[in-house]
Amino acid sequence: MRKPIIAGNWKMYKTISQAIELANGLKRELYKIDPQDIDIVLCPPFTALTEVAEILTDSNMSLGAQDMHWEDEGAFTGEISGLFLKDIGAKYVIIGHSERRQFFGETNETVNKKLKAALKHELTPIICVGENLAERESNKTFAIVRNHVEGGLKDISQQDALKIIIAYEPVWAIGTGKTATPSQAQEAQKFIREILAKRYNNETAQAIRIQYGGSVKPENAAELMKEPDIDGALVGGASLKTESFAAIIKNSMGVK
Ligand code: PEP
Repeated sequence: MRKPIIAGNWKMYKTISQAIELANGLKRELYKIDPQDIDIVLCPPFTALTEVAEILTDSNMSLGAQDMHWEDEGAFTGEISGLFLKDIGAKYVIIGHSERRQFFGETNETVNKKLKAALKHELTPIICVGENLAERESNKTFAIVRNHVEGGLKDISQQDALKIIIAYEPVWAIGTGKTATPSQAQEAQKFIREILAKRYNNETAQAIRIQYGGSVKPENAAELMKEPDIDGALVGGASLKTESFAAIIKNSMGVK
């Protein structure tokens, strides 16, 4: 059975003191959860990584970052490398979030380079894929998802594919309050698993965890998690408050 994984993407929210408050609140709220049962990941902004890393030491939660550059170092003003993320104690990194694709020119090619660099530094990449509203309405969902998965995972070996997490995030559901129905999410995630099975083999596809992301809330987490191909959630807005993120985690457990 695949272990569920729930990650909070704090985006460009939380000053250092606010991040400390949120991480401490979650630690208090979730300390009874056995890390054997679920992986919990917090992805604060770069500026709060150090402080949150300290709070998460010896906890049942891990640190993640929201993006990285593919080079280890160099003249890349404003960028942060996998080497630096490893140095600060991050274990996960989100790659190819739709906001990066939409506003910062992220492409399948840059996703693929970042993915390879993350693996080199033993960071677990969370690769985001998903269609926008126009693409869904013109029946291009499967084509876009296939393009993101195949482009992002280009030249990735079967062994490395097992180290990756995929997040299916329909862009029309991100930050809009409009969640994909469990069956819409399941349909796309089953399709992703089929792509992986063809590309690698069925055993590998069955082992790779696929999260759903897009307006996940305490009220809809359980019904999404009941779907056979949904192995967790990537949560934006609802990860910014202790109560809602803790409730998503508690409501997601033991529902399969
Ligand atoms: C996200 O940013 O990945 C996300 C899913 O955001 P939200 O939960 O706010 O839709």
